[in-house]
Amino acid sequence: MSMEKTVSDAESTRTWADEDDFTPDDVTFDKLREECGVMAIYNHADAARLTYWGLYALQHRGQESGGIAVSNGEEITDLKGMGLVSEIFTDPVLEKLPGHIAIGHTRYSTTGDSALLNAQPISVESTKGQIVIAHNGNLVNLGTARERLERDGAIFSTTSDSEIIVQLIAHSKHSTLVDCIAESLSQVEGAFSIVMMTRNRIFAARDPHGFRPLSMGRIKGEDGAPDTFVFASETCAFDLLKAKYERDIKPGELVMVSEDGVTSRYFNTETRQASCVFEHVYFARPDSRIFGRWVQQSREEMGKTLARESGVPADLIVPVPDSGVTAAIGYATESGIPFNFGLIRNHYVGRTFIQPEQRVRDFGVRMKLNPVRALLEGKRVILIDDSIIRGTTSRKIVRMCRAAGASEVHMRISCPPTISPCFYGVDTPSKKDLIAANKTVEEICAFIEADSLAYLSLDGLIHSCTDKDPTPNTYCTACYTGVYPTQWIDVKEILPAIAHAVKPDEIIHEDEMTEEAIKPQKQLAF
Ligand code: SF4
Repeated sequence: MSMEKTVSDAESTRTWADEDDFTPDDVTFDKLREECGVMAIYNHADAARLTYWGLYALQHRGQESGGIAVSNGEEITDLKGMGLVSEIFTDPVLEKLPGHIAIGHTRYSTTGDSALLNAQPISVESTKGQIVIAHNGNLVNLGTARERLERDGAIFSTTSDSEIIVQLIAHSKHSTLVDCIAESLSQVEGAFSIVMMTRNRIFAARDPHGFRPLSMGRIKGEDGAPDTFVFASETCAFDLLKAKYERDIKPGELVMVSEDGVTSRYFNTETRQASCVFEHVYFARPDSRIFGRWVQQSREEMGKTLARESGVPADLIVPVPDSGVTAAIGYATESGIPFNFGLIRNHYVGRTFIQPEQRVRDFGVRMKLNPVRALLEGKRVILIDDSIIRGTTSRKIVRMCRAAGASEVHMRISCPPTISPCFYGVDTPSKKDLIAANKTVEEICAFIEADSLAYLSLDGLIHSCTDKDPTPNTYCTACYTGVYPTQWIDVKEILPAIAHAVKPDEIIHEDEMTEEAIKPQKQLAF
């Protein structure tokens, strides 16, 4: 993934309040962005095509670039390009990628990032042979690792932090490749769900916190042929391949597939799990099972809990499409208020560009969403969305509903207020640009011009993502609490617009938490 964020002088002086002036509508729905999806195939005659199908199902995790590396056992060929995977991997292109082992990557790149240069998979030649990596997540303790590696002779071909992992492997002194990989992974901190390949092996690993999902599946071999092993960021990628879900890669686990079969080892068992709860709120597809739990189940439960926590008399539940739909169904089920699609999304807007900086800046919300006057006119409407990041898009949607005749517009959000940026593979604005970090819920309600506004509580969110699970997950909730599960964070990014609200030395890390320390953070959130 991309290197740590930097804040330019221009950015450092702006606040969320300037939003209407500077925000391109490439924050189209004012959403956070996932940065990657990864895929791997071991033992299939058309491994590249299966990888392509998997990436096709993972396209929601990144739309700017895609890549596939494939091995026929002798040599590795890779191909990367800008755009959707279906635009890059046409039939003639896939025919140039023969082999039975493959890994793939789809990526969202941040502005200013050299997008094609940092497209993945990334390949490095080493004394252990060629190593190719595809990475979802963000490393946070880069520190002097890159400098140290360069002093040791490493030549970096990208500015991506993912390359640091392969360079660490290439420079490891261990004699076996699997030991080199395990040692390297234990040296980096942050979020990584990775798949790697050599000419004849596949590796899959998750960071010890287990921030990002990564699952393993299997396609049964026909007529006694050996099985095909599949790894993917989300299980929705298995369905198109008719692969059967086997299990999640565990936090801190390294899995290897070779001609000897599947082996597993742990490079870290000490760290507390902190899987990204926002995967359940927004990123992952509802038809995926992540962290051992169906996303659809979590999201519907969020809607039900939200209805119990902050019900309001109304005539119609309207989801902000598409990500608000499942929670809205849950809200309608619990409240008994009718559900309908009062906002229609145009799915064909927004893919006419390639790189973030090339986005057409005046694409308004109106080009993406249109209200259904026949449904909204004269109705008290509850809009269900999954987040308010800067607030401007929510305000436009509220105004749109009123203009279509809604008599009241209430906004309900299926997670707590987003008050702090993410450093673990999600592209978020700095704290000063997050409306909930700088305004109270009442002030946000006034800003978006809603009749009422309520968010799901943190307890309600966690309950929704664990309810009835026999072995519940422990989640990262840092963007709602400001309490980070890792030591390293970028202090500049977490300064609020109101400079005196939190000083850098008041930032609390999870391992420094006491009951006393937690309280003010929670109060900040709610
Ligand atoms: S900070 Fe938020 S978005 Fe980032 S990993 Fe934690 S829960 Fe997920």
